[in-house]
Amino acid sequence: MQDNKLNEEVRAYLQRTQSCYINGAAQRGEGAAFAVVNPANDATLVTLNSASVAQADQAMLTAKNAFNSWQNMPTLQRGALLLKLADKLAEQRETLAQLESVCSGKTIQLARMLEIDQSVAFLRYFAGWAGKINGETLDVSLPSFNGEKYTAFTRRQPLGVVVAIIPWNFSIMIAVWKLAAALVCGCTVVVKPSEYTPLTLLKLAELATECGFPAGVLNVVNGLGAELGPALINHPDCAKVSFTGSVPTGKAVGQAASAQGKRVTLELGGKNAALFLDDLSVDEMVNGIMEAGYLNQGQICAAAECFWLPESKIDAVMSAISQRLEAILPGDPLDDETQFGPLANKAQQEKILRLIDVARSEGDEIVSGGKVFDRIGCYLQPTAIRVASANSTLMKEETFGPVGSFIAYQDAEAALEAINSSPFGLAASVWSHNLSHALRFSERLEAGMVWVNMHTFLDPAVPFGGMKGSGIGREFGSAFIDDYTELKSVMVRY
Ligand code: NAD
Repeated sequence: MQDNKLNEEVRAYLQRTQSCYINGAAQRGEGAAFAVVNPANDATLVTLNSASVAQADQAMLTAKNAFNSWQNMPTLQRGALLLKLADKLAEQRETLAQLESVCSGKTIQLARMLEIDQSVAFLRYFAGWAGKINGETLDVSLPSFNGEKYTAFTRRQPLGVVVAIIPWNFSIMIAVWKLAAALVCGCTVVVKPSEYTPLTLLKLAELATECGFPAGVLNVVNGLGAELGPALINHPDCAKVSFTGSVPTGKAVGQAASAQGKRVTLELGGKNAALFLDDLSVDEMVNGIMEAGYLNQGQICAAAECFWLPESKIDAVMSAISQRLEAILPGDPLDDETQFGPLANKAQQEKILRLIDVARSEGDEIVSGGKVFDRIGCYLQPTAIRVASANSTLMKEETFGPVGSFIAYQDAEAALEAINSSPFGLAASVWSHNLSHALRFSERLEAGMVWVNMHTFLDPAVPFGGMKGSGIGREFGSAFIDDYTELKSVMVRY
């Protein structure tokens, strides 16, 4: 049924049998078969074979072999290739967006605007760093006995082969964050996309070859993470692991990488809060909640799931938010006018329904939603839950879905303390017309990213990453330079 809405290139792409892109060419996987399912209608889009461990090894070796000439390529030439890839993505916007939409259930509008347009912006931003990744000249204080002098300088050298492990929620954009930064630094990359969304990165790697990227610089292996992840991380040529995904997998990845002394960046989940101060109107709070919690069916790592509202306004906000959520109609993600698509996969739908059951059993009030929509596919009603207390499971465990937990506070200071008691700290927001108040709260909120009067927006110039259990390291801005380069000191006597 959806086939009519797909362009010819996407339909042809869905006939493919290759699941890997290694050394500049597509390959069939030699491991177990896995199905890629469209969450909007439960239909299998394509069945692929996972890469075998031998193919993962081959991808690593290929990336290692490509490293020397890639790191020695004049930096501006690397930047120019990233710019070309950005242009290519912009040109292929519709094809890539459709491919992503059918695999992940993301609405076509969001796929275009976030997955593709943002990827283009990030590629251009990182391309602009070419030629600007510098060391410093240092003042050396060693004593001179016979007139000898000293100087020293530092240089930033690329680490080598980077393994990038990607979740399903923004499979192109998150991969581009990592690969654009790694490539401009002179690293080569092996990407492991999520098994739910394996196709768009394959397409991107093919486009990179068309743009002139040398073979082996960007490789993609698809398949089950539990098998391929360790094979890539434990590979002797893996210099760095950049992982984005869930907390439990991230912990395992972090332990495996650290056990071998490998560099690792972990961008994990959490349980993000939005704190609304009482000077805001009910309408302003409702608009903020919709922005912070329900975009992409809540499947954004930085989305807010806990909403702290002043006691005097919570009843009015809950009533208005219910009206807003109940007016949301689900639709086919490929239709331009659809605002709310399915969840990305069955496992995700089942996990969220289980958490909603837990909420019911703990005495939380399901104010709106809480059930699947009566249609085929992984759809779930946008849900608002007024929790019984800050100890409710729904205030602690990430749903990663369109499920907001709402709680009243009497004292904003106490609310801040409760928010900071979370073991996680990816993102938070504080909302108020009183910027002085809001900025003071922003200083004390324990999260790597704090927004004031906004939520979820990311910018390539602004570092992003989690505090506490939400991760290690930062992406974007200049922070990526630490991620993908080794700082070398050179000391000279003359
Ligand atoms: P996940 O942890 O299940 O999977 C992420 C990736 O890890 C997939 O590619 C998977 O195949 C792979 N993997 C699985 N087992 C592995 C293993 N043992 N070793 C190595 N790799 C393995 O996460 P998900 O369900 O795809 O994504 C959702 C989660 O990602 C949410 O918790 C969300 O908060 C988080 N997330 C965080 C950010 C961020 O920037 N902090 C961004 C997006 C998503």
